[in-house]
Amino acid sequence: MSTDWGDIYKELGARPVINATGSVTMLGGSTPAPEVLEAMDRANGAYVPLMELEERAGEAIAKMVGVPAAYITSGAGSALTLATAACMAGDDDAKIQQLPDTTGMKNEILIQTRQRYWYDRCLELAGAKLVQFGTPDGTTRQDLENAIGPNTAAVHYYAVIQEPDPQALSLEDTIEIAHAKGVPVLVDAAGQIYPLDLFGSYVRMGADFQCTAAKYMSSPQSTGLAFGNADMIRKLALQSFVSYEGRRVRGVGRPQKVDRQEMVGVVAAVRRWMTMNHEERLADTEAKCRNMLAPLQGIPGVDAELIDNIIGHQPYGVTLEVDSTITGISCHDIVDRLKAGDPPIWTRVREGDSGIILHAFGLNDGEDKVVGERIAALLR
Ligand SMILES: *Cc1c(COP(=O)(O)O)cnc(C)c1O
Repeated sequence: MSTDWGDIYKELGARPVINATGSVTMLGGSTPAPEVLEAMDRANGAYVPLMELEERAGEAIAKMVGVPAAYITSGAGSALTLATAACMAGDDDAKIQQLPDTTGMKNEILIQTRQRYWYDRCLELAGAKLVQFGTPDGTTRQDLENAIGPNTAAVHYYAVIQEPDPQALSLEDTIEIAHAKGVPVLVDAAGQIYPLDLFGSYVRMGADFQCTAAKYMSSPQSTGLAFGNADMIRKLALQSFVSYEGRRVRGVGRPQKVDRQEMVGVVAAVRRWMTMNHEERLADTEAKCRNMLAPLQGIPGVDAELIDNIIGHQPYGVTLEVDSTITGISCHDIVDRLKAGDPPIWTRVREGDSGIILHAFGLNDGEDKVVGERIAALLR
């Protein structure tokens, strides 16, 4: 670790941490790649009309990813909000300016009860109402057919193919049923960026919209992407802060700004992602995870294993389960003790889990060994 590690935060009295949790928003989400920072720096030399930059940057990204149209947003969360606004207000300027009051508009976003999740709040911000279909135990085709009504603005789908849910209604069925009734389908595919043919695949399958979190691609974590058919992205753009200022039509997207620096940064991040050596990226992540794992093996009462997943935004990882009657310390205690250490190490036991999952996404070189050794010392 360099001697000036985290100085910029220490000068303010904030404590920098080693991030073994992964790409989490609360710790900063991502570290922009050098080519992204260079693009952002070059953007500073001139101003540019953002209506034009959004269009050109969107076209460049759509071409690289192989989708009809793309739009840069203030995180994937904003892409979700703008998409719901687009489904409710469309290109009617009076309705765009009326949101979040949805009087006279279709305002229901259907979501499987099984698929309620942390970010579905973003679907409500523009005034839409979430309406659940199916039960906690499963969803049938009939459930969706019955749920679609005169107020249905869209059906939402949360895609995580590395953790398939056989009880959920599939996206194929969702698209078929929704489209037969003229209802658009929105997909949260924020982390579905690898393998590369997965990136953008839901729009290619026929979904009207999908979002991606650019934080997972070494772009600033405040950036995100909307992909969709041309009509959906055109309507989504009309809800944005760029349209608010550029067209003088006051849509709900105004507080969700993106810098011009960030816009060219996302283009550079997507270019890097589409052309980089992913085998090298995966090998580097696997090596870091094995370095975290090595000191944890062979300790009585400890089960530490490498996760072998390479799909999505966060490959590999280490799972850690302990028998606290043998180790004398629980996973929750480990999380607390690591945070209280110097430097603090942040990990977590996810809601509903019993063990810790460590990820290499946010680790600088050398921090992998520090994490493994500090945990091993607590367990011995
Ligand atoms: C991170 C994430 C989001 C939110 O993305 P932001 O870019 O942080 O707004 C939405 N959905 C999923 C599945 C995510 O992982």
